[in-house]
Amino acid sequence: MKANYNVDKKGFYGQFGGAFVPEMLFPNVEELQNSYLKITQESSFQEEFKSLLQQYVGRPTPLYFAKRLSEKHNTKIYLKREDLCHTGAHKINNTIGQILLAKRLGKTRIIAETGAGQHGVATATVCALMGLQCIVFMGEIDMKRQAPNVARMKMLGAEVRPATSGSKTLKDATNEAIRDWINNPEDTFYIIGSVVGPHPYPDMVTRFQSVISEEIKKQLLVQEGTENPDYVIACVGGGSNAAGAFYHYLDNENVKLIAVEAAGKGIDSGESAATSVLGKIGIIHGSKTLLMQTEDGQITEPYSISAGLDYPGVGPIHAHLHDVKRAEFIAITDDEAMQAGLQLSKTEGIIPAIETAHALSVLDKKKFQPNDIVVINLSGRGDKDLNTYIDYFNL
Ligand SMILES: *Cc1c(COP(=O)(O)O)cnc(C)c1O
Repeated sequence: MKANYNVDKKGFYGQFGGAFVPEMLFPNVEELQNSYLKITQESSFQEEFKSLLQQYVGRPTPLYFAKRLSEKHNTKIYLKREDLCHTGAHKINNTIGQILLAKRLGKTRIIAETGAGQHGVATATVCALMGLQCIVFMGEIDMKRQAPNVARMKMLGAEVRPATSGSKTLKDATNEAIRDWINNPEDTFYIIGSVVGPHPYPDMVTRFQSVISEEIKKQLLVQEGTENPDYVIACVGGGSNAAGAFYHYLDNENVKLIAVEAAGKGIDSGESAATSVLGKIGIIHGSKTLLMQTEDGQITEPYSISAGLDYPGVGPIHAHLHDVKRAEFIAITDDEAMQAGLQLSKTEGIIPAIETAHALSVLDKKKFQPNDIVVINLSGRGDKDLNTYIDYFNL
């Protein structure tokens, strides 16, 4: 039997996924499960989505042949330039999709949670675009650490509500968002920022981000005479940019997929976010997946120098791709990522997000053949990380 890498009717990828939510949320989640495919596949939806991706986000993003980087590594390297999207990363592809769905469901109030603030900014952006009320939950500690993103959200008209319980970080913000959704089931749409959360979010977000691999296929055909590279490489926090870059290649096993996680200060250092190595099966954010936890099932605080990879789980699609060995998982340390970020800046004139620098670091770890076509998803730009680069390299 042919392996299946996509979600099944019940919302599972193999043994991972599903919708493990409080009973109070059944109606909301069911409404989404029953409507997301029908609505998002309507031609009027697709037209509006495609048009905004083109006119507002700036798609298609280039598939850039990185000549000097290729010479350095003696292979053919293409960079999918999601860093050139409006707001500086791939996240906007998804928030555009979800806000169009929210509008079609008649919702008038948008909620989201954010850790480092990047998904909060992408959500506040599309709410401004559509003139909808926006409330973003953010841990009190994260609000202090990420003050510029809090300011951005406020400028965009969003209300940022501090989560003051627990460790005052992402998981507490998530709890607050879920509580809000329970209390406002009629008018509120919950925009989730990665391929995580209860079914149908992982599949819905994957489909919105799949525009990335749809474009890679077309662009590679023009530039190389084939739709299929030998490798697609992407970093994984929750896993949305990777899921989008992999999606149209999942069933073509000639295309090797590499998912890159943050090893932080080292896998065994106690300060890491390498979920595929350190994670065990558990439930986080309403889905069954691999997550980092203590013996008695408490979620452990992850660590990475990059805020976007600092997540204790991975989306269920990635837990499955890991389980059935469809994707190779590689963990990259802070130091390795920072060097790769500097290397890309000096070699190609592109300063990448530190999340993305983890994916680039695979070039130093793994040997590719001269004729291999290697596509790396350049998930975001490094402007937001400038202070981290400055401190690290004493610039
Ligand atoms: C948020 C973010 C990520 C991690 O999120 P995924 O859902 O794993 O894609 C990676 N890169 C950048 C630039 C980001 O902003």
